[in-house]
Order: sequence, then C-alpha cells, then structure tokens
Amino acid sequence: MSFVRLALLGLLVLAAQGAAAAVLQLGPADGSRQALGIPGSVQQLAGPGDSDAAELLSGARDADFAPYAGQPLRCDSGHGCWLRFTLARDADAPPDWWLRLRTVRTGTLTLYQVPQGTRATGLAHTPRQFPLNWRYVDTEQFFELTLGTAPSTYYLHIRDVVSADGVSLLQERAFDRQQRRLATLLSVSLGVTLALMVLNLVFWRWLRDTLFLHFGAFLAVAVLLHLWQIVPAMATPERMGDMSLRGGLQALMQTATVLFIARLFDFRHQLRGGERAVQACVLANLLLGLGSLLGHQAALETWVAVADLAGMAGALAAVAWLLFVRQQWHLAWPAVLVTVIALTSGLGRLRWLGLVEAGPDEGLGLTWAAVRLVYMLLLAITVADRTRRAELQLRQSRRRALDEAQRAERLLEDKVRQRTEELHGSNARLASEIERRREAEAGLVSALATERRILQQQREFVSLVSHEFRTPLAVIDAAAQSMGLPGVEAQPRLAKIRRAVHRLRTLVVNCLAEDRLRSAATTLRREPLDLRAVIGGAVAQFGAQERERIRWQLPAAAASVHGDAALLDVAVHNLLQNALKYSPAQGEVHVRLAQEAGHAVVDVEDQGGGIAPGQHERIFERYFRGDSAGSTGGTGLGLFLGSQIARAHDGSLALLRSGAKGSAFRLRLPLLPADEIQEIRT
Ligand code: ADP
Repeated sequence: MSFVRLALLGLLVLAAQGAAAAVLQLGPADGSRQALGIPGSVQQLAGPGDSDAAELLSGARDADFAPYAGQPLRCDSGHGCWLRFTLARDADAPPDWWLRLRTVRTGTLTLYQVPQGTRATGLAHTPRQFPLNWRYVDTEQFFELTLGTAPSTYYLHIRDVVSADGVSLLQERAFDRQQRRLATLLSVSLGVTLALMVLNLVFWRWLRDTLFLHFGAFLAVAVLLHLWQIVPAMATPERMGDMSLRGGLQALMQTATVLFIARLFDFRHQLRGGERAVQACVLANLLLGLGSLLGHQAALETWVAVADLAGMAGALAAVAWLLFVRQQWHLAWPAVLVTVIALTSGLGRLRWLGLVEAGPDEGLGLTWAAVRLVYMLLLAITVADRTRRAELQLRQSRRRALDEAQRAERLLEDKVRQRTEELHGSNARLASEIERRREAEAGLVSALATERRILQQQREFVSLVSHEFRTPLAVIDAAAQSMGLPGVEAQPRLAKIRRAVHRLRTLVVNCLAEDRLRSAATTLRREPLDLRAVIGGAVAQFGAQERERIRWQLPAAAASVHGDAALLDVAVHNLLQNALKYSPAQGEVHVRLAQEAGHAVVDVEDQGGGIAPGQHERIFERYFRGDSAGSTGGTGLGLFLGSQIARAHDGSLALLRSGAKGSAFRLRLPLLPADEIQEIRT
C-alpha cells in the first residue's frame, strides 16, 4: 500500500510543476500509529499576504505554487508563506484527523479549506497548540481536520514564523496517544524536579552548603515552568499559557542557572571579576524578566535569548579556563554538565533566533523531555559528587581538628610536666636553701654560743689572772716583810719568793706567747735549734725541788729543729709545769727526747691522777681548766699555747694517754734535714 502511495507521490512531484497538486488519498492505516509526513504532497508559494487570500482561495494563483520538498521554510518577514495540499480519505478511513506543523518562534498561522468543486471562500482554521514543552526550540501546531471521501484543498498561511517544517497528518487516536505520552513525561519530569527540589532544600538545611540552595532555586523555577504549561493545558488543552509569564519565568530560569553555575564553580574566588560578571548577568536577566511580566515580552524576548546566549558562552569560557588553564580536574563532572546545558540551550537559542537552520532537536517534545531528565540526572550526580566531597572535607577537617586537639593536649601535658619538674627543682632548691640557712643559723647560734663562752672564759681569765697576780704578789710581800723580822730564816723565804716570781714569770711569758701567736706568721722568729738545749733550758727554770723530780733522757745526737727558741721553750716548760703541778708532791716526771720518721718527739710523763676521759679534747682549748686542776693555780693557757706553738712549727701536741697512773703528752716537731744542720754547724 505504502509502496503504491510512494510511487504515486513520485509521479505527482514530477507532474506538479504549474499544475494543481494531486489528491493525497488517506487510508485507514495511515497516521494511525505515528504521524504521516506529507511534504511531497505539498506545494509552496512565498509572498502574498492576507489581502491576497481570496484570490488564492479562488485558485487563480494555483499555477504559481511550486513543489515543497520538506526543507525548513523561513516565513518571518514580508507576507510569509503559503502551503497548499489536497486531501481525501478512503471510505473505511476515520474522518477525524490532525494536521501537524513544527514551527520555531511561531507567529500567526491560518488554515483555509476549499472543498473540491467549489470556489467558495474556505473556512478559516486557527491552530491548536499542544506544545507541553516550555523550551523555545520547536512548537507543534495542530489543526483539527474532518476529512470526507471527496477531496478538499487546504491553504495554510504562515506569517512571522522563523522556521516551519514537518508537515504531517495523524489520526485522532495517534494524536491522543502522543499527547498522553507527552503529558506522562511532563508529569514524571515535574515529579522528579519537585522531589529533587525538596531533597536539595533538605540538604541545604542539613549541610548548610548554599550550593544546595542554589540548585533548589534552579529546580523551583523549573517546577514553575512545568506548571506554566501544565496548568492552563489542564483547563483548555489548546492553550499554552500566558506568554508574558513565560518570558518572566524564562528570565528567572536563566538567573537561577547563572547563579547555580557560579556557585558550583565558585566563580567568586576562582575568577578575577567573576562576581561582577555574574551580578551583571543576574541583573540583566531580572530586568528582562520584569519587562516581560509587565507586558513587553514580544519586544524583549530577543534580548532574553541574547542574555541567555551570552551567559552560556561566558560560563563555557570560564569553565574551560578553570579546567584547561588552571588544571582543576576535580571540576570535570560539573564541567560536562555545564557543557551539555550550554550547548543544547545555546543551539536552541540560535535556532530560535533564526541564526541556524537545525539544532540537536528536530522539535519532538519527547526528545526535549528526555534531555530535561538527563539534565536533572547530571545535576543530581554533580550535587551528589559535591556532597561526597563536602562530606570528605568535613571528615578531613574533623580529623585535623582532632589531631590538633590531641597535639594541643600533648603540648599541654608536656608543659605541665615541665612546669612540675621546674616546680620540683625550685622546691628542692628552696629546701636546700632553707637547709643552708638553717645550718648557717645553727652556725651563727653556735658561733654566738662560742663567743659567749669565750667572753665568759675571758671574764674568768681576767679574774683568774688578777687572782694569780695577787697570790704571788702577796707571797712576795709577806716574804719580804718577814725577811726583816728577827729570828726568821731567810732560805725558805727566798725559795718561796722565787716560786712566786716563777709563777708570775710563767704567767707573763704565757701571755706574751699568746699575744705573739695571734700573729704567728709575722712574729715567729725561727732558727735552727737543738731540742736538747731547749729541754735543758726549760728544766733549768724550775727550782731545785722541782728539778729533782724531773727525770730526763736526752739522746747523744742533737735533735735539730727549725724553730722559735722562746716559743718552743714555752711549750716544753708548760708541759713540764703541768706534769709537776698535777702530780703528787713527790711524783716523778719523765722527759724523753727521741727521733722517729723525720720528727723529733718529746714525751712528758707524770704520775698524777690523770684527766677525766670526757675532757681529753677540751684541755687544748683556750682558757679551759679541767677537773684535775682542782684548786691549783693556772690560767688554762698552757696546753692551748703548747698546741698552737706545735702547729706553728708544722708539728703537733697530743695527749698520748691519761689514767689513774698518770698522763703522757707528746710534742712532735719536724727535724731539720741533715744538710741544713751541717750548714748551721759550720
Ligand atoms: P692550767 O694548767 O693553767 O690549768 P693548761 O692549759 O696547762 O692550764 O691545762 C689545762 C687543764 O688540763 C688543766 O687545768 C688540767 O686540768 C689539765 N691538765 C693538764 N696537764 C695535766 C696533767 N699533766 N695531769 C693532769 N691534768 C692535766
């Protein structure tokens, strides 16, 4: 059947030049499932306007019509175009048909019908529009036809239409099916858009990322555009909705798109002057939208298109720069999305402006609906990707914050530890300082006590000395008085006088020696001495009674020392005097001089009562007088001077032993080296 018709059509095309078009006979299967294209049955004529309609419908200019091969017609200037075709149906074909024409930026369309055999002015039809598509590329125009078995010729006048093509016929049920499909797609699209919008608003509230708000705003405008075409179509199927409102919504859509893309790529921070450009674009679109809403849609729609094109071109350039110059490859997904949006939308706009003949879509609303769903999908992927990145960033920043907190905690612990150690250190220092001060204080207290004791001793010494002076002086005085008395023997008196004088002399010598020893370094008059002579000299100072008690043992060889003769004499004399003094009246005193290990040793032993064990150390202190002293005279200087004199000669004085059988003291003095002795002798 269709082969026969095609052959017929071919013949018609060949015979069409200058002749009336052949009748297109429509069978029951034609246009029943999908639209039947009829470009071959159509003739075209460019030029004549509305005023020529009557002439055209009368058939007077049928010869001027030329065959139309289906190419896009440009009918946007002058008087527009006329299309002419003749239709008839088979008896078994249904009478209700629809004529469809695809147009870009539709102006005015008028269909005239001239039944065969009449020359009457035909019935004028206005098209019914069921675009169900808010895009601006193609609009499908439908004319309802009632075909008879007898042929009718149709004249279609197209004016102010940028482009028109796709003349086709559909049976009523095919038309219904197509419309239902479009309505379904549109409803699905609306549902998806609405769901995405709500989801984005939830994301925005949840993640506080304004990208979701931007995308939500974009989707909200998309919802409004859906509603713009669905709501009027629900009431009056052939109505498309208010065009001013559409102009306003389109401008709003462009605004939302620009803002979303700017936010997606962070133009504000990524591009110098990016924020300004975005603001300018938004402002221009808002002004255009406002103008459209105020009723200037027809005058402004071209500028809306230009603003859209400029925005898309700018977005594409910026994205390309970010991607290829700044190498920000993580923006690849959003870049694909923006490219798809910009290319499809841009090409559609160019077609709508009449600058390109064909775009990616040849005008099926179905394709556009599919494209819109793909948009949504890509946008959703982009937003999901962005969400994933945000989540990752959040996790990273949380981890960083945790690390930071842990590091700060460690630092704090270190600092606390350090401070604690410092505190311990300073505590220890403080404790040692306190200890030191306590010791110093104790030292001071003991020094004070010593000082007090010495003062006390000094006081005692002075009283002692005055007593010591008084006694021998009284003795001397009494002896001198008694010596003049008659009958008094002079000898024992003289001995008494001599002892008293000896005591006084010893006292004075000891005082002088102490005085010299206070500054021993300057006043020591050292010379080589033979200790035998020193001992001899000391013994000789005693009276005859004392000398008898002294048993001395001197070596044959000299015991030479380097010393102060006067001081050494004092030391030996004091030892001898103590030995005599603290022994019974007849007790012997042994003096022995020996040499051992480079030292001369003088041992003085007595047969006295000894020294109390607790006083062995103290007897060498200045002014100390022990228990053994009893009531015997003394100053407590003897042993003190002896030990000081020994030390001044690099020697020592020590108590060897002391007990009930007597005491033994030892004076040690370094011997002179043999060669120096030689020198002395010579
Ligand atoms: P002084 O004999 O003038 O009291 P010394 O310094 O010579 O002072 O002696 C100090 C003390 O040591 C004496 O008071 C005495 O108690 C004791 N002392 C010294 N030599 C002897 C000794 N040979 N036997 C017993 N006690 C002695």
